[in-house]
Amino acid sequence: MKRLYLLLLLLPYSLVAQTTLLLRPDRVFDGETMHAGWVVRINGEKIEAVGPASSVSATNAGIIDLKGTTLLPGLIEGHSHLLLHPYNETSWDDQVLKESRSLRVARATVHAQKTLLAGFTTVRDLGTEGADYDDVGLKQAINQQIIPGPRMVVVTRALIATGSYGPKGYGPDISVPQGAEEADGHDALIRAVRTQIGKGADAIKIYADYRWGLMAEAHPTFTLDELKLIVEVARSSGRGVVAHASTAEGMRRAILAGCETVEHGDAGTPEIFALMKKNGTALCPTLAAGDAVSQYRGWKKGQDPEPARLGEKRITFRQALDAGVTICAGGDVGVFSHGDNARELEMMVNYGMKPLDVLRSATSVNADVFHLADRGRVRPGLLADLVAVEGDPSQAMAAIRQVRLVMKGGKIYKQ
Ligand SMILES: [Zn+2]
Repeated sequence: MKRLYLLLLLLPYSLVAQTTLLLRPDRVFDGETMHAGWVVRINGEKIEAVGPASSVSATNAGIIDLKGTTLLPGLIEGHSHLLLHPYNETSWDDQVLKESRSLRVARATVHAQKTLLAGFTTVRDLGTEGADYDDVGLKQAINQQIIPGPRMVVVTRALIATGSYGPKGYGPDISVPQGAEEADGHDALIRAVRTQIGKGADAIKIYADYRWGLMAEAHPTFTLDELKLIVEVARSSGRGVVAHASTAEGMRRAILAGCETVEHGDAGTPEIFALMKKNGTALCPTLAAGDAVSQYRGWKKGQDPEPARLGEKRITFRQALDAGVTICAGGDVGVFSHGDNARELEMMVNYGMKPLDVLRSATSVNADVFHLADRGRVRPGLLADLVAVEGDPSQAMAAIRQVRLVMKGGKIYKQ
C-alpha cells in the first residue's frame, strides 16, 4: 500500500487521474444511509462503482485497505470565510482595517489546506470581509492545483445596505472601509449583483439584518422589495441568494424574497420556521460561531453556566428541527480555526440532531441546497471526493476528526 502511494506521488497528475482504485473500508456512508461491508471503485476523478465487496470488481485496481474506517462523501462546509482567522487572535475590525490583502491571502492558502486535510473537500465561502474578490483568485489557485484546498463556492464581497455593517463605532464624520459592498435601491443593487457575478460570484450573499447605528440589537436592513430584486437579478443568471439573518423580521423578508438559505437564524420563531419549511428555505445554523464568540468574551465552557444567548440558540434550533426545516451544516469557520470544521457537526449533535442526520446535512443535503449535483454522495458517476475516518461517526461524532484518508477528484491528499 505504501508503495502504491509512493507511485501515486511520483506520477504526473494526468496519469494518476486515470488510475483505478478500490477502497475497502468497514462501511460506507453514501450520503444518506450507512452500508456495512461496501467497497468503492474509483476510475480517474470519478466514482465508478459502489456496493457490497462481492458485487464490485477488483480487476486492475490498486487496493487501498481502510480497515477500521467509515468512508463518506467528502464533507461540505456550508459557511466558511477562508480570508478570516479567529477573532481571539485578531479582532474582525483589525483584520478588515489593518491587515494587508497579501497577508490575508497568504493566510487563506494555509486555511484552504487545513480545511481539505480535515476532510472538507468543498466549502461555500460566504464573503471575503473586506478582501474584495480575493476568494475568486484563491478558488482559481486551488482549481489549477497551485495550492491544495477544497473546491470553493464563492460569493465575493457580499451586499449590505448602506450604513448597516462594520467596522463601526467611529465618529460620524469619518468614512471607514467596510467589510462588504454597500448598495441600495433599484439601479445600484442591480449593478452591484451583476458586478459581483461578473467578477466570479457563484452565489450572492446579502445581510438582511445587522446591528447598526447606535442601537445594540440587530434590525432589518434591506426592504422586502430590495431583497426580491436581488433574488430576481441573481436567479436570472442561474445563481441563488444566501441571507445572513438573525432577527425574525430579517428572516421573514429573506424567506419571502426567495433567498435559498438563512444563515444563523438565532431569533427565529415557530412561525418563521414554519414559513421556511413552506417555502423550502434551508437554515444554516452556525452553532459553533456562537459557541466560539461566547468563549472569546470570557465564558469558560464546562465551568461557567451556559450564557443566555446559547440557551436561546438551543431552543430556536430545536424549533427549526421540529418544524422540519432543511438544515445545512455550516459553522462560520474563520470565526474559529479553519480545519476545526468538525466542531459544528459535534455541536449539531449536542444541540439535539441525530448523528446520521448531521452526516446527511454535511454531505447530500448541503450538495442539494448548494446545487452541487456532482458531489455529496457516494454514487457511480459522481466526483471521487471521499474521506475515510476511524470508527463510525454515526455512533460517536468525534470520529469525524480522525481522518485517515482524503481524496478529491480521485487524487489522494492525505493517507
Ligand atoms: Zn459568516
